[in-house]
Amino acid sequence: MTARTGLVYDERFLLHRAPYDHPEHPGRLSAIWNRLEAEGLAARCRRIAARDATREELLAVHTSDHVDRVEATARREYAQLDPDTYTSRRSAEAARLAAGGLVDLTGEVLSGALSNGFALVRPPGHHAEADRAMGFCLFNNVAVAAQAARRAQVERVLIVDWDLHHGNGTQSTFEEDPHVLYFSTHQYPFYPGTGAIAEVGRGAARGRTVNIAWPAGMGDAEYLAAFDRVLLPIARSFDPQLVLVSCGFDAAAGDLLGGMRLSPDGYAAMTERVATLAGGRLVLALEGGYDLDAIAAAAAATTRVLLGEKRAARDPGPPNVVANRVIRETLDAHRPFWPDL
Ligand SMILES: [Zn+2]
Repeated sequence: MTARTGLVYDERFLLHRAPYDHPEHPGRLSAIWNRLEAEGLAARCRRIAARDATREELLAVHTSDHVDRVEATARREYAQLDPDTYTSRRSAEAARLAAGGLVDLTGEVLSGALSNGFALVRPPGHHAEADRAMGFCLFNNVAVAAQAARRAQVERVLIVDWDLHHGNGTQSTFEEDPHVLYFSTHQYPFYPGTGAIAEVGRGAARGRTVNIAWPAGMGDAEYLAAFDRVLLPIARSFDPQLVLVSCGFDAAAGDLLGGMRLSPDGYAAMTERVATLAGGRLVLALEGGYDLDAIAAAAAATTRVLLGEKRAARDPGPPNVVANRVIRETLDAHRPFWPDL
């Protein structure tokens, strides 16, 4: 049978590396890839080649100055673009390949050649702003892919960002664009500081930024309650034609940076939920995640869902009191825009 799930992976993503210990290191991607190979999952997917994003694709999100600044890092052994964000000589190349690979994978899903896909890329993207690198991110991969889809006549794109952190760059790219709904779950207050419940989008796009901003300690029950009570009702009304996921695994239990406690099964259950939208046209792109065992296990569990494997139903129990309050406040903030809530 022809594989219906696409995978982007390229060893050149490993050439982006810091000259010192940094949590966003090449071993993250190797750990995920090795696990998918060991469990026979990579072989069941179709490899989609990474390719350079074109300048035009990048300029749909980023300023010309920012693209030039990232490209210029290729002339230096190392550079530091902000206190958290390093580059090596091959980082600009990796960043172009990450964005371009995700655009092509998304195109294959939109054309129907693939059902869904997972882009195992680095550097990550969701903190990158139009005019600057930030938070380990050089180009905003998911935003670039969403803009490419829009240019391919896709009217409505849903971006689900379940990384531990708020995707400030993605939110600011689309906060005035009614064609793109941005939904994020994140630890708050926390890096990067944005993503309050009250940030709901601007102008014609009010209601199209949805922030589940909650404290540390949330697990499967809380995340799934946010998906079932907030994301799915809004997304069904929005009726997306494509779902892109900023797939960070740093909300997993045991992460070095985060204080959440999602299990691999929780990631699988979130994947199942977003796969019910947009006729299943679903593309995941790796963002953060810093505990090697946790990210490998979560990536395997999500890939199994993309491949159509059935999972034993498991009730995570009721969400905690704090999560219930945050969910209620988010619903209150969005009722003016979504009458079905
Ligand atoms: Zn993160």
